[in-house]
Amino acid sequence: MPAGLYERVAARAKHCCEYCRAPEIFFNHRFVVDHIVPRVFGGSDELDNLALACHSCNGHKYQKQLILGVVRKSLIRIFDPRRDRWGDHFRWNPNKTRLIGRSAIGRATIEALQLNNDRQVEARILWVKLNKF
Ligand SMILES: [Zn+2]
Repeated sequence: MPAGLYERVAARAKHCCEYCRAPEIFFNHRFVVDHIVPRVFGGSDELDNLALACHSCNGHKYQKQLILGVVRKSLIRIFDPRRDRWGDHFRWNPNKTRLIGRSAIGRATIEALQLNNDRQVEARILWVKLNKF
């Protein structure tokens, strides 16, 4: 990765995962520079194809550019942090521990990246208690 690229991607994302919004400061190592369109599908190394991702989201997203929609059984793409607005596709439940999909893309992304798995929810409960989330 070119020098300084991580810092540019992380600063643009305000050091939060661009999928689940996890704050990087609570982890003991840097987040990952994610290729929104994976290189294997022709995705570039340009900034407009890069996003900051936590290790959980990056691991689940690996090469999942398209997944089957849960409800309509049609192909629904995963949320794209460069082209989509987060708030158009996701919102928090009242205590800010679970994500709720506002669109088919949001719901499919929550499922594909397991954004409400037990570990994610447990971490958010702590961050909310610390008033850091
Ligand atoms: Zn994440």
